[in-house]
Amino acid sequence: MSVNETLFQRAQITTPGGVNSPVRAFRSVGGTPRFIKKALGPHFWDADDKQYIDYIGSWGPAILGHAHPEVIAAVQYAATQGLSFGAPTEAEILMAEEICKLVPSIEQVRLVSSGTEATMSALRLARGATKRDKIIKFEGCYHGHADSLLVKAGSGLLTFGNPTSSGVPADFTKHTLVLNYNDCEQLENAFEEFGDEIACVIVEPVAGNMNLIKATEEFLHSMRRLCTAHGSILIFDEVMCGFRVALGGAQSIYNITPDLTALGKVIGGGLPVAAFGGKAEIMAHLAPLGGVYQAGTLSGNPVAVAAGLTTLKLIQAPDFYSHLSKQTQKLVDGLNNLAKELQIDFCADAIGGMFGIYFCKEVPVSFDQVMRADADMFKRFFHEMLELGIYLAPSAFEAGFVSAQHSDSVIETTINAARVALRKINM
Ligand code: PMP
Repeated sequence: MSVNETLFQRAQITTPGGVNSPVRAFRSVGGTPRFIKKALGPHFWDADDKQYIDYIGSWGPAILGHAHPEVIAAVQYAATQGLSFGAPTEAEILMAEEICKLVPSIEQVRLVSSGTEATMSALRLARGATKRDKIIKFEGCYHGHADSLLVKAGSGLLTFGNPTSSGVPADFTKHTLVLNYNDCEQLENAFEEFGDEIACVIVEPVAGNMNLIKATEEFLHSMRRLCTAHGSILIFDEVMCGFRVALGGAQSIYNITPDLTALGKVIGGGLPVAAFGGKAEIMAHLAPLGGVYQAGTLSGNPVAVAAGLTTLKLIQAPDFYSHLSKQTQKLVDGLNNLAKELQIDFCADAIGGMFGIYFCKEVPVSFDQVMRADADMFKRFFHEMLELGIYLAPSAFEAGFVSAQHSDSVIETTINAARVALRKINM
């Protein structure tokens, strides 16, 4: 039995399913999860000492590559000064100033410890500020596991949602309207019917939780227009795409100013930092100034903030994003060429340092299209690649991530492995 298998058996005794976050369990692809011992640059090593090229990057944060020496040094120094104070620090001001500078729609920001907290708090704030209950989300977007966001479309057109998790009372999701991503007409209709009751629309402007799906310009611009017209708050959930697709996030690419933005992943550089922020007049509704309660023992933790601040500094290096995008595009071009060469219904797409691979002819633009891709082919491809030392997201519904340390030779090794894997599964 391999060390990974032994660890997985042992983990299942004391941890439900053997993992601390479900997607790590390889449920949708089958097999034994790899237990990771260490990571450096674009690589990590599992408990059997097998090396992998890593394309999940801790599900987004590892944009600089793993264990960047400057980030490690900042964390080590911060740790010597004490791990947590429960009182404010100057570093938190620096972090807030940096976020507000890089994302101009954010006038004020509050730091939290996870993306879930960021979106959950943004939602409460939007409801508190508008004094409305109803919210709109889109099928296939994930915003963390707050109760009112664990919801799928109800039966019938424009009906309110049903919980996707047991333990969530239907009463908690009855105010959540779930619409189709990239469907402008449905969005118009929803506002026509419920406009003045809608507190907010929450959206991943580049969706990374149903594989990679880009919003159309029209979709996001009509969302902005409708929110403004009806006094609803537009929340961009950029926990994944913020500082990942561009320095100013997806909002800088689409040139849209959301009212609130949720951030996470990259801004913590691998430690637990997330944030939500936006218009100062909305943020003023938060405690201690206003009546919307939100708090956290470890919010703005000094060690985590040291990792985040250093990461935010390093990603501002000239050409950082053009290099990251170029490397990601090389990977995607290589994969698309393979699809042609081998005549397989397979394609890939990218934006910034994020990519998607799809076992279908054309890049999907909707949740339905993603669902129709060949899940069995993905599963077989995933395992062949894993065997060849390439670690892709263990699910056909997750985006992939490239780091600044994914060099030409790393990308070339990946494409060569993909040729072998695709040939094998296509036989
Ligand atoms: N929003 C988005 C867009 C995400 O991708 C995620 C996590 N994958 C979250 C929110 C929740 O973040 P966390 O896992 O840090 O709670």
